[in-house]
Amino acid sequence: MHIANDDVLVQGGGGFLIRIPPATDPVHLEEIRSGLQRKLWDESGGEVQFSLGWGKTPFAARAHLELQKRRIGASMLQSSGGWNPEGWSQPPLDEPFGKPCDICGQSPGSQVVQYEGEKVLHCKSCLEARRLGEKLTRWKWMRPGGGSVRALGISFENVNSQTPESFRVGRWIPRHPDSREPLTFQEIAEQARSDHRLAVLKADVDDMGVRVGQVAGEDPSYNRLRSFSYSLHEFFGQTIQELLEESWPLIYTLYAGGDDLLLVGPWNIVLDFAGSLAREFETGPAQEYSPLTLSAGIALTPYRVPIRHAVERAEELLESAKQCPGKNRCAALGADWSWKQHESVVGDGKQLADWVASGVAPRSLLHRLLRLAESGKSLSAARWAYQIERNVHRRYSDFRRWANHVIEYLERDEQRVSELAASLRYALLATRPRKEGRDD
Ligand SMILES: [Zn+2]
Repeated sequence: MHIANDDVLVQGGGGFLIRIPPATDPVHLEEIRSGLQRKLWDESGGEVQFSLGWGKTPFAARAHLELQKRRIGASMLQSSGGWNPEGWSQPPLDEPFGKPCDICGQSPGSQVVQYEGEKVLHCKSCLEARRLGEKLTRWKWMRPGGGSVRALGISFENVNSQTPESFRVGRWIPRHPDSREPLTFQEIAEQARSDHRLAVLKADVDDMGVRVGQVAGEDPSYNRLRSFSYSLHEFFGQTIQELLEESWPLIYTLYAGGDDLLLVGPWNIVLDFAGSLAREFETGPAQEYSPLTLSAGIALTPYRVPIRHAVERAEELLESAKQCPGKNRCAALGADWSWKQHESVVGDGKQLADWVASGVAPRSLLHRLLRLAESGKSLSAARWAYQIERNVHRRYSDFRRWANHVIEYLERDEQRVSELAASLRYALLATRPRKEGRDD
């Protein structure tokens, strides 16, 4: 099937929406679907999955897709007459056949690679993925045809500039200034304030499916839908990448494109960046395609823990941020808040940390105030005032002014109290005494 550029309405973010001739035979579409599923199954061992849905409108196609997603793998595990046991066989793993791959734990390991001083056993497909990943961190543009990188049976090559058939793959990652080697997660974490933790940020556009349907409805030629999708992809895949390169060089891009973003960096820098991201989005795509909002989840993690755990938590936090009516929020540090409040939550955290660092208040006071803020119904302004009176000298009027301001909402505004708790957690992290050799 030939697809013209104009027929690609939405792309990026691991998904696409294309216009096809109305008379297309569904049998043909089913063949395309099972062909791609088979290739992905072979290449990723079932780790990456693909579904395809279609319909007369973008809305109908989406509904069909959702249905298909629930029976993923069916074409792999069922043949025409019933279950196909060949489909789920994996190569044998245990002795005497050798050890499983240290990375995926699924296929037999075939080669040991030195990585950050440790010997890591790789299977064939993890080794291939590793080589591909190394190449992709150096490539800026690539196009199908003739190259050494293969995915889904298609080969790709590196090109130095944008051409009609090329697409941007270059993503910002921090490197050593001299060797140009990528920084390790440990080196990135060591740039964080006080507590050497990483933060994983996952952000995406709120109600994207609904907005796609609405934008499609506004213009039956789908021109507006095409430019909507293109703007978003350009925002995440290009504008934000340039912003990182210029102003946030310590942030590592795990994924950027379509309508979402997955980044990792020093925890305090990621929290600052999140505010900047929200502002860029508001003055960029949100301005042009209003109403359009964005939410983010930020999970903190020690650098030694495999990053996928923090990615999962960032996804859960993102979902929790979206539970709140109106969305348009950030979830982090045990709370979530509207972007309007972001600067004040993070700013108060920094201010409190600075007060502790300059001796205005003891760090132990932050722990006590946090316990109060977390005490729910038994939270009392009198206990708060008592702690301030006992621990902060009268001459520190800035701190006292801040603490008095808190008293005004302490017993009646649950949301603001949860934001207060987030600021206190920020300040505790930012003033954590550093111990030799500790990394948790
Ligand atoms: Zn593997």
